[in-house]
Amino acid sequence: MEKIQFKQDKYKKNRGGYSRFLEIKCESCSAFIALYQKDGPGPLKRMYIDRIFSPQNLANLQKVSFKKIANLTCSHCKHIIGVPIIYKKESRPAFRLFVGAVIKKVSKIK
Ligand SMILES: [Zn+2]
Repeated sequence: MEKIQFKQDKYKKNRGGYSRFLEIKCESCSAFIALYQKDGPGPLKRMYIDRIFSPQNLANLQKVSFKKIANLTCSHCKHIIGVPIIYKKESRPAFRLFVGAVIKKVSKIK
């Protein structure tokens, strides 16, 4: 896999400056959902859209107006993973994940 750099910004700093990459998979069928930069400690309750690195169609949502963002679904089994929200404290678009909808694995890439 190509080398990917963590995004360094105020959001990362606000969470203590510690990040890792997570492979997000569908809980129902184990299909790959996204490569995600998780900042700071704590459970993964939402996925900020600016932290999705792949696949490209999800990463591209950063450039799309929030109103056009649909539910996050598994492309394989169509299970709904999360719904688009604006995280109010930061006015930051994200997907709020349904409890138990995904499997997370810390990715080796760095
Ligand atoms: Zn699935």
